[in-house]
Amino acid sequence: MIVVGLGAMGSATAFHLAAKGARVLGFDRYHPPHQFGSSHGLTRIIREAYFEHPSYVPLVQRAYELWADLEQLSGRKLLRQTGGLMIGPPDGVLVSGARRSAEEHKLLHQVLSSAELRARFPIFSLGENTVGIWEPRAGILFPELAVQTHLELAVKRGASLKFDESVLRWEPEGEGVRVFTDKGVYRAGRLVLSAGAWLGALLGGSAALPLSIERQVLLWFEPRAQAELFQPEHCPIYIWEYAPHRFFYGFPDLGDGIKAAVHHEGQCSDPETIQREVSEHEVETMRSLLRRFLPDADGVLKSSVVCMYTNTPDEHFILDYHPAHPQVLVASPCSGHGFKFSSVIGELAATLLASRQPSFDLSLFRIKRFAGVSPRRRDK
Ligand SMILES: Cc1cc2nc3c(=O)[nH]c(=O)nc-3n(C[C@H](O)[C@H](O)[C@H](O)COP(=O)(O)OP(=O)(O)OC[C@H]3O[C@@H](n4cnc5c(N)ncnc54)[C@H](O)[C@@H]3O)c2cc1C
Repeated sequence: MIVVGLGAMGSATAFHLAAKGARVLGFDRYHPPHQFGSSHGLTRIIREAYFEHPSYVPLVQRAYELWADLEQLSGRKLLRQTGGLMIGPPDGVLVSGARRSAEEHKLLHQVLSSAELRARFPIFSLGENTVGIWEPRAGILFPELAVQTHLELAVKRGASLKFDESVLRWEPEGEGVRVFTDKGVYRAGRLVLSAGAWLGALLGGSAALPLSIERQVLLWFEPRAQAELFQPEHCPIYIWEYAPHRFFYGFPDLGDGIKAAVHHEGQCSDPETIQREVSEHEVETMRSLLRRFLPDADGVLKSSVVCMYTNTPDEHFILDYHPAHPQVLVASPCSGHGFKFSSVIGELAATLLASRQPSFDLSLFRIKRFAGVSPRRRDK
């Protein structure tokens, strides 16, 4: 089996394949964890009351189990539970979607009024028509450490991983594949394409998927006041629907500052030429949201970084066989919410590659849903 791209999805896939005894050869054009794709920036949210669709709940529940297994196997802390808040108007997509998932799957949660939110989380400045869905199991994953751990454990289980080696193209060869890199030619029975933002380039004309790459900016600020209230003991992860279908999100201060970012609304970009510098205007956009909703978070800017979302038009993932070549599995395009699932996507990819039936409903992630669909731009 060859795995192309060893970021979040590829590292987990390599690990699960190797753990099941498969012969694994993996390639990455860089040396993950790195800062050029979609899996950097120190923290990722994990949450269970999934506003995007209730079908994600069983998957994220399996992901939680696999993250716990990985912590145990590696002896590393990969997940920090802080609880989570989905904040917004009661009829907004965020709150109503999270509530639907929580109710359908009988998840532990509370619906908090704006008065209750204010009393419990004084860092937030809330309007009257605002409520919060509190979920105690939500928290923070450490993406660089998680990728590194999957990679190290894959190697321990026999995977051969080649870094700084780019896959230039691949082609079917009988029932298997031939893969051409900048250093050689390799053959395998099965191929996994988990190249994140570069997936479109690797598919070439073999399957034109309607993907769009969106530039995202992550920012870390010093608290201006009440620093203790931004500590993880007091401050959960949160997502806030601040206008219809417009969101920002944030994390407590884990020592690097208070991280905050806008979800979507970024420029449509190309991974080869993306602007990696953060502009004053982008910092000011985030500050203006903080001034309105978390005024004490609007302190000195500590750092910033650019990252990429690979969006599908409906923002659901892709986990499916290539439409013309069933020996090729396409794994990811996660539309800005995939990291938390990488553990389970790795497990599912290994199951699909063994031609076994997965125990989850993956119909949301099928490629055939894109027939006749164009890419969707998310910049405002
Ligand atoms: C700013 C930001 C915030 C996010 N927040 C969250 C969050 O809070 N919670 C959450 O669950 N998800 C979140 N996500 C989404 C999540 O991080 C991504 O879905 C996930 O990291 C994507 O993983 P990937 O494996 O598809 O891509 P990557 O991790 O980028 O891996 C792709 C790899 O393929 C390699 N590659 C590409 N082309 C080639 C080639 N030709 N040859 C060899 N190697 C190649 C690249 O070098 C790269 O290492 C966020 C994403 C971003 C950008």
